[in-house]
Amino acid sequence: MEKNIWFVLTGFSILSCPVFAQSCPLVPTDVCAEAEVTVSVEGEEKEYTTGNAGLAGNMEESKIIWTQRYLSVSLPLRKLKVTSPYGFRRDPFTGKKRFHGGLDLYARGEKVMAMMAGIVVKVGQDNASGKYVVLRHGNYQVSYCHLSRILVETGRKVSPAEPVGITGSTGRSTGEHLHITCKLNGKSIDPRILFRHIKNIKDECVRALRDL
Ligand SMILES: [Zn+2]
Repeated sequence: MEKNIWFVLTGFSILSCPVFAQSCPLVPTDVCAEAEVTVSVEGEEKEYTTGNAGLAGNMEESKIIWTQRYLSVSLPLRKLKVTSPYGFRRDPFTGKKRFHGGLDLYARGEKVMAMMAGIVVKVGQDNASGKYVVLRHGNYQVSYCHLSRILVETGRKVSPAEPVGITGSTGRSTGEHLHITCKLNGKSIDPRILFRHIKNIKDECVRALRDL
C-alpha cells in the first residue's frame, strides 16, 4: 500500500549550523538557512528542521527533508559569472584605484532571486545604484543594484529563489550587470562567501538524495 505522506513548510529561520563550519571553514557559522518541516506519515506528525535530515525515520521522510533543504537556498542568478570581484580595483569611470564593495555578475535581462528566505528592507532608485532592492536574511543584508525592474515592495517576505528584480544598467553602470553587496552584522563581506555556502548546501543535498 502506498504510504500517505505530505509535508508542510512551517517557516524559515537562520540558525547556527556548526556542521557546515567544519565542512567549509570560510563560511560564517551563523548563515545556515534552515526550513522547519512538518512531515505527516499515515496520520502521524513529526517535526524536523532541514538541518537534521539524518534523523528522519525512513527514506521517504529523508527525501522530503533533503529536498526542502535543497530548496531553502538559491544562487542569485541562474548562472554566475563574475565580471568584477570584490576588493580593490581600478574604477571603470575614473581609472583610479578604489575599493569595490560588492561583486559584479554578468547578466542580460535576467531574474534576480532571493538567496534565502528573508524580508525586503528597502527598494528605491538613486544615481549610483540605479534601481535597487535590499533584502535581510537573519543577520545578513544583501543588495542587488542597477536593476531595470523592481518586483517587490518594502516590508514583504521573500522565499528562497523568488525573483525580486530584473537585471539592467541603471545608475552608475558602464553596461548591464548585477552588482551585489553583502553585509554581515552591518560589515561588508565578499558575496562569494555566501555563494560558496549555498553551493555547499546544494551539493550536500544532492549527495544525500543520491545516497538514499
Ligand atoms: Zn559593482
